[in-house]
Amino acid sequence: MEIKVAKHAGFCFGVKKAIEIAEEVAKNNDKTYVYGQLVHNEKVISDLEKKGIIFVDNINDVPQNAVTVLRAHGEPGTTYQILEKKLITKGKNLNDATCPLVTLVHNVAIKLKSNGYEVILFGKRNHPEAIGTSYHLKGNDTFIVEEPEQYRVVFDYITENKFEKVAIVSQTTMSVYGYQKLIENINSLLGNEKFEEISLSLRNLDKKYGFVDTICNPTKQRQSDTDELARESEIVIVIGGKNSSNSKELYAKCREFGVESYFIQSQEQLQKEWFSGKEKIGVTAGASTPDYLIDEVVERIREITS
Ligand code: SF4
Repeated sequence: MEIKVAKHAGFCFGVKKAIEIAEEVAKNNDKTYVYGQLVHNEKVISDLEKKGIIFVDNINDVPQNAVTVLRAHGEPGTTYQILEKKLITKGKNLNDATCPLVTLVHNVAIKLKSNGYEVILFGKRNHPEAIGTSYHLKGNDTFIVEEPEQYRVVFDYITENKFEKVAIVSQTTMSVYGYQKLIENINSLLGNEKFEEISLSLRNLDKKYGFVDTICNPTKQRQSDTDELARESEIVIVIGGKNSSNSKELYAKCREFGVESYFIQSQEQLQKEWFSGKEKIGVTAGASTPDYLIDEVVERIREITS
């Protein structure tokens, strides 16, 4: 029996950095507040709570003047405004762990908008990253498309509103295949003018319809490694937090491929019967899964299959 762990599995650099920042700040302060789930992984959150970090889901619950860390997913400007009123500011007591690749999406969205584009977001409506990016567009009125199958609604939105220029950007953690599919689907309904790629440098902003590839590289690496794993394995175990968008994408990928697959949060959920008669076992994990959880899962698979 062979257990193969995907080459790129677990923490991405953005999540690693956010955790390092939170731990460092907590070491030097009696109380450290983090707004929202720092990473979408229940185990990691509970480990950080044990180190004295206080997580709040409502920004109003951050006390006045409190030492605060902002998560990797990026925040709307309103978060900074509320914190400023509480005397929490950068350079003083605000530690911003926003991933630079999320900031890049914000900057792309802002530039497209200021160049006359109606910007549509391919993302998950309730995901903090999508909420943060929407702030730079039309706030709650930003058009968000969650699935490639919703292409007709996008087409109707574009044609009914007769926008002069339309651009699509993606949340960093969406499916690469799903994004391609969405563009292809919309293009199948359009006439001569189709959506074409605009490079990340945004040099050419005169296309009527354009899309920018803003899915981050760590997400792409995890997705392509999972493709390979699904092809080679008889069963794939995907480890990730219940709310982790990129982990759910990896699981969906395995299911689409048709390989037997299970989405778990930790080794306790593994069941012996899943592995009966299997010789090739694949293990992968989303960007918010720590290495020790991956190691524990591999160890437990070895135990129950030996
Ligand atoms: S998934 Fe990508 S964008 Fe999100 S924190 Fe990781 S590297 Fe940054």
